[in-house]
Amino acid sequence: MHGTSTSSHALAEIEERYGAHNYAPLDLVVEHAEGAWLWDVEGKKYLDCISAYSAVNQGHCHPRIHAALLEQARRVTLTSRAMRNDRLPGFLEKLTSLTGYDMALPMNTGAEAVETAIKLARRWGYERKGIPDNRAEMIVFSNNFHGRTTTIISASATPDYRRHFGPYTPGFVFAPFGDADALERAFNEHTCAILIEPIQGEGGVNVPPEGYIKRAWALCKEHNALFIADEIQTGLGRTGDLFACDYDAVKPDILIVGKALGGGFYPVSAALANRPLMELFAPGDHGSTFGGNPLGAAVAIASLDVIVEENLPARARNAGAKILNGLRATRSPLIAGIRGRGLMIGIELTIDASRLSDALLERGVAAKDTQARVLRIAPPLIIDDHAINFFLEAFNSAISSL
Ligand SMILES: *Cc1c(COP(=O)(O)O)cnc(C)c1O
Repeated sequence: MHGTSTSSHALAEIEERYGAHNYAPLDLVVEHAEGAWLWDVEGKKYLDCISAYSAVNQGHCHPRIHAALLEQARRVTLTSRAMRNDRLPGFLEKLTSLTGYDMALPMNTGAEAVETAIKLARRWGYERKGIPDNRAEMIVFSNNFHGRTTTIISASATPDYRRHFGPYTPGFVFAPFGDADALERAFNEHTCAILIEPIQGEGGVNVPPEGYIKRAWALCKEHNALFIADEIQTGLGRTGDLFACDYDAVKPDILIVGKALGGGFYPVSAALANRPLMELFAPGDHGSTFGGNPLGAAVAIASLDVIVEENLPARARNAGAKILNGLRATRSPLIAGIRGRGLMIGIELTIDASRLSDALLERGVAAKDTQARVLRIAPPLIIDDHAINFFLEAFNSAISSL
C-alpha cells in the first residue's frame, strides 16, 4: 500500500524546491485515500473536508470508477476528435439526458469549459442578438471564481487573481453578487449573457438571497441575454440537488460542469446547451485535443452512474443538514456565521480561518480557508454518520483550543 518511504517533511521540501509556489497547501502529504478518508506518508488518517474542491464528490478511488478507468485504459485512451471513438456517444447521451439539454461540448478542465461557454455566448450575441462585432458584454459578479486563464481572470474581481497579468480581455461588466436591482442596471443592448455561480465557492461559500437566482434568470429573459451557470463546483450533487439551479427551478441557457464529472480520476468538463445555441459552433470553431477522449468518457459515464445510483444529491442534503445542525449548536465567540446548502458549507470566523484549519489538521480533519476568514467544509458526498460525528467532535475541540 505504501508507495513512498521518504518522510512528509522531506517530500514537502523537495516540492518547494522544484515546484512553483503557486499554492499554499496544508501541511499534509497524502499517500493514499479511500472514500472520505486520507492517509499521510506516516500513516496518519484524516477526514477529507476539501474533496479536491468538489472533484471527488463520489469519494476517493471509487471502485466502480476505478474499474471503468482500468478497463478503458486497456482498450484505447486517446484518439483526438480527428476520428470518432466508441465511448464518447454514450457519455454525451448520458450527460445530456441527465441534465436535460440537447447537446454537450466536452472539454477537460473547468476553465476550458468556462472559455467554451464565453465563446458560445459571444457568438450567439453577434449572430442571433445582432450585437455589433466585438462589442458584446458579459455580466460577471463580485467574488466570482471561474478559473485561471487570462480571459477568465479578466472577468475576476479579485485583485490577487489579476495583478500584473494584464492586459485583460475586454467585454466584462461587474455586478455585486446577490443584488438583483444592481444586476438589472448592468444590462444593456450589448449584453450577451450573465455568467454566475448559483452559490459562490472560492468566493467564500456565498449563498445568494432567496429568489435571487430566479430573478437573475428572469432579467436575462427580459433583456434577451443568456443565463450561464458555472456549476463546476456546485453541480453533480454537492448542494443537495443534482444542480444548485434546480433549487430555484431555473434552467440555464448554458450549463458548465466539471470537477466531479471526472470522479477524481481524470479531468472531464463540458458546456451544455440546447441545439439552436450549440449549433452556432461549426467544425474548426472550437476544440481540444483531449476533450471527449475515450478514457475520459468512460470515467465520466461511471462517475455519473455513481452520482445517480448512490443517490448522492439526497445524501449530500441529509449529511449537510446534520453537519449544519451540529455546527449551529457550537457556541463559540469565534464563529461569526454559518452558511451553505447540502455539503457546501462555509464558516465565517472572527479570526483567520487558517488558524482553525491548522487546529483541525492536528485533530485529523483536512479543511481549508476560501477567503481569509471563511473555512469551507465540503467532504465527499458519501460521508457517513461516523465520519460526521468525527468531524463535529474534532471541530468542537479545535475551536475551543483557539
Ligand atoms: C474549480 C472551478 C473552476 C475551474 O476549474 P479548473 O478545473 O480548476 O479549471 C471554474 N469555476 C468554478 C465555480 C470552480 O469551482
